[in-house]
Amino acid sequence: MRKMIAALLALLLMCCTGCGHRTIQASSFALDTEVTIRLYAGGEEQDAEDALACIDSCERLLSAHREGSDISALNASDGQPVPVDALTAQMLARALDIGRETEGALDVTLLAASELWNYKSDCPRVPRQAEIDEALRWKGMERIAVEGSVVTAKEVRIDLGAVAKGAIGDEARALLRERGVTCALLNLGGNILTLGQKPDGSDWVVAIEDPAGEGCVGTVAFSGSRAVATSSGAQRYFEAEGVRYHHILDPETGFPARSGIASATVLAPDGLTADALSTALFVMGEECAEQLLQRYPDCAAVLVREDGTVRTLGAVDFTCD
Ligand code: ADP
Ligand code: MG
Repeated sequence: MRKMIAALLALLLMCCTGCGHRTIQASSFALDTEVTIRLYAGGEEQDAEDALACIDSCERLLSAHREGSDISALNASDGQPVPVDALTAQMLARALDIGRETEGALDVTLLAASELWNYKSDCPRVPRQAEIDEALRWKGMERIAVEGSVVTAKEVRIDLGAVAKGAIGDEARALLRERGVTCALLNLGGNILTLGQKPDGSDWVVAIEDPAGEGCVGTVAFSGSRAVATSSGAQRYFEAEGVRYHHILDPETGFPARSGIASATVLAPDGLTADALSTALFVMGEECAEQLLQRYPDCAAVLVREDGTVRTLGAVDFTCD
């Protein structure tokens, strides 16, 4: 068994702002990954710490693996209406919307199927077909109803893992903005969110890791507040009898998605959209990805194909390494 979790999906190349403002940095382990917040203009150390605390409290609400979270309560609710935090309801509603727009390529009801593969444990395994069939009985976005802050989820098991890092990044970025921070960078395990313009006027530059090995395939550059998320078959996987099994599932089959894409990076105005779409594009493959992105004019994508070639979609300033 081999298990690899890339420490950071994207490496940040942006560094010194050259404006005389001391860079404030705070880091923690959250969302099963490394989280770093850097303030380049405006704000105090306490603001960075509060942003980390915000990330923690969002995780307590949204994790399917935490006792007492809203999502755990829904998964144990047996179809009874559950009052949840407004944030949970809002994120769930948005994830379901994007799920529908992607025709189910993003499906936040795959918890039973994901758990079968044991990706997060030291002993992942290939499940038997009968087990997959049984797990897929617990899938179905149409079985979730969000009405205000009350959610009903019947015979379904919810996992917001494909959108949580981006969505929670949005909350932390909003907190920093409210505190008067005018330039910041948030890195939630490779989900990057920027806030504002760099004081020296230069672009933010984010490197995209090579899914086939060491190093990067290239960089994307942009200015202002954006979010960048990558879904990659090289992020979390194991090998059995010479076959590699990664953690992004095809909701139709319950098996790892094989679409010809090795990694999908999405740039969007907000983290939830970037995170949701990166997972969906990875699952749906290049042709459908192209069609879908036409409906998101303020988003762009960089797809790395399994043969190592790169395809960009939408307006993106990508430089090949
Ligand atoms: P990561 O969270 O590792 O950065 P993703 O954002 O692509 O990568 O999310 C993958 C996670 O989402 C998986 O670990 C699993 O919990 C869940 N998941 C897997 N396949 C899907 C899918 N097709 N739709 C929605 N969620 C998925
Ligand atoms: Mg995602």
